[in-house]
Amino acid sequence: MQESTIAPVRARAAGPTTTPGRPRPEAPAPAHPAGALGAALEQFDRAADHISLDPELRAILRQARREWMFSLPVRMDDGRTEVYTGYRVQHNLSRGPAKGGIRFHPQADLDEVRALAMWMTWKCALVDVPFGGAKGGVACDPLQMSPREVERLARRFATEMAEVIGPERDIPAPDVNTNAQVMAWMMDTLSMHRGYSIPGVMTGKPLEIGGSEGRGDATGQGVVYCVEDAARRIGLPLAGATAAVQGFGNVGEAAARLLAQLGVEVIAVTDIGGGVVAAGGLDLAALRDRARQTGSVAGAPGTFPITNEELIGLDVDVVVLAALDGQVTGKNAGRVRARILAEGANGPTMPDADPILRANGVTVIPDILCNAGGVIVSYFEWVQNREALFWTLEEINDRLRRVILRAADRVWRRAADDDIDPRLAAQAIAVERVARATAIRGLYP
Ligand code: GLU
Repeated sequence: MQESTIAPVRARAAGPTTTPGRPRPEAPAPAHPAGALGAALEQFDRAADHISLDPELRAILRQARREWMFSLPVRMDDGRTEVYTGYRVQHNLSRGPAKGGIRFHPQADLDEVRALAMWMTWKCALVDVPFGGAKGGVACDPLQMSPREVERLARRFATEMAEVIGPERDIPAPDVNTNAQVMAWMMDTLSMHRGYSIPGVMTGKPLEIGGSEGRGDATGQGVVYCVEDAARRIGLPLAGATAAVQGFGNVGEAAARLLAQLGVEVIAVTDIGGGVVAAGGLDLAALRDRARQTGSVAGAPGTFPITNEELIGLDVDVVVLAALDGQVTGKNAGRVRARILAEGANGPTMPDADPILRANGVTVIPDILCNAGGVIVSYFEWVQNREALFWTLEEINDRLRRVILRAADRVWRRAADDDIDPRLAAQAIAVERVARATAIRGLYP
């Protein structure tokens, strides 16, 4: 019997064309649209070039596998009907079911969701959880909506996605402006349709209905494990170090709080309503209360105002980017003075900023590594739901730490071995894994 051979993922220097008589397809001309999708494609093309990815695999991985657009009419509290647009994109399914959050944001559109879905594929592959990548979004402003309106929107979206999602198919989770309650409504909606409880269809659920210990803080906790690891590698003692955090939502708030527990002085925070800075360090608990009551940290007593742009250029040891994409660009990258730039958000740094940051000696912890704590603990939640057996917070954090630091170690080693920046190293590892899985499964039919 002939031994099976593993399909190669590298381009052959020369060789037969795949279809006799037809020229082997060239790699698509790298056209990079603006915004998040352009950034995601440019990063992917760099990684594909670096690993000499087979052109056919490049063409497959450059595109999303499946995309949906949904019209979502929602009855508002005043009786009007508002029609929102929702998206779900599954980028790749070679390594397992699709996985990725759902965001409610005025700027959500198909291209952004495509970029975010692609980043989820690389993230899951980099930290080696058995998922493909997906993302969902609804173009809406949930901050202007009542909780009942948000619930109706979430339930309508879940109804439209009923044929798309499922524990074996595609498992959504929280993202920008969505939370455990939104996941609960979506999980309940799908369960009502099927007639029985399906906890494994969503992750990031409340503990009461099958959520996991540690999921709430997981992304911020992962950011902090990565910062600790990077600080150790560059010889920066964290006790007494200073930090600034852009974004004070689920990720930024947890990262700030957990950094402070390590003795880091968090001196600046910004959010959607403004920002605050205090040279002697911020009272994070007071800021959290203020943000809950007023919707923003802005104007907190004993602080001075600061903009997002100013925060990025602060003379601190660590900057955590935990807001939206596209924050550090070729224009402002030269102003970053931090030694560590930790990407808690997805796509916060544009490709034209990377060479500048590298030349200036800034240690960038790339998003697909830095913010992977969320999806890692989502994976744990999904496993616990399948087994109906739940783990303690200590078990969760211990496993999270091991999984994310193993990936971090691979990234730093690859960066050193190939003399490349850590983003390229992370993407190269991830694209190689996904390409290998895609090649091994082969083309059907
Ligand atoms: N939305 C988070 C992310 O961007 C978590 C995704 C998940 O847990 O599926 O990584």
